[in-house]
Amino acid sequence: MHCPFCQHEDTRVIDSRLTEDGGTVRRRRECPQCSERFNTFETAELKLPAIVKSGDRREPFDEHKLRVGFERALQKRPVASDAVDGAVRAVVNDLRRCGEREVPSRQVGELVMRELKALDQVAYVRFASVYRRFEDVHAFREEIEKLERDLPSLEGLQLPLLDAARRGRKS
Ligand SMILES: [Zn+2]
Repeated sequence: MHCPFCQHEDTRVIDSRLTEDGGTVRRRRECPQCSERFNTFETAELKLPAIVKSGDRREPFDEHKLRVGFERALQKRPVASDAVDGAVRAVVNDLRRCGEREVPSRQVGELVMRELKALDQVAYVRFASVYRRFEDVHAFREEIEKLERDLPSLEGLQLPLLDAARRGRKS
């Protein structure tokens, strides 16, 4: 690290210690050129990106909203709440890991769909039908067709868009 006093290109760490809460490392550094000393602090970058909605609106990421989205899709489905917790955590961790300052809401939706797909196919279709309704009807129809091939039990599912997709395929 450069010296903030004389801009010398390297400084030496002379002490390094963990703060009381264990969340930060404090380093004491010394410049070999001007002998000034200063501290640096190292903490994990855990800030979640802002979510960019349609019309370029930005809002802070809201874990509660994410959970509500999962719960709505999983209503009356046989999925343990531990599994829902795990799915929420997976999405949050992915957003954290991406290191971006902002991500489009669409990207969050894709992560939710990935998790739902693994949790419960019916919930996945439910979510996808609402989520993709305005976004990409064509992609949704392809997804349904794929699911119908993979999963015959979808037959009994009453979804208006499923019928629309079928009608569209015939015409
Ligand atoms: Zn210096």
